[in-house]
Amino acid sequence: MIQITSCPSCGSDRIKRVQQDWIGNFQGQSYTVPSLEFCECPNCGERIYDRKAMRKIEAHSPAFARRDAETKVPLMAYA
Ligand SMILES: [Zn+2]
Repeated sequence: MIQITSCPSCGSDRIKRVQQDWIGNFQGQSYTVPSLEFCECPNCGERIYDRKAMRKIEAHSPAFARRDAETKVPLMAYA
């Protein structure tokens, strides 16, 4: 787990790890990632996601679901 002690954006040491439902947006389509853990800076609003958080976002994002659907089509065409 990455330990973040200061904000890379503004240098504030008030940045802290939070766990909350996270609302994402992809091409006007919003989606929710429940209980996502990430770091948030109360000073400037910077958010930092570690690898685990990124993977969780990817699992819920329609952007990645869409990519899967697109890759399946040419694979079937070759079968
Ligand atoms: Zn900051």
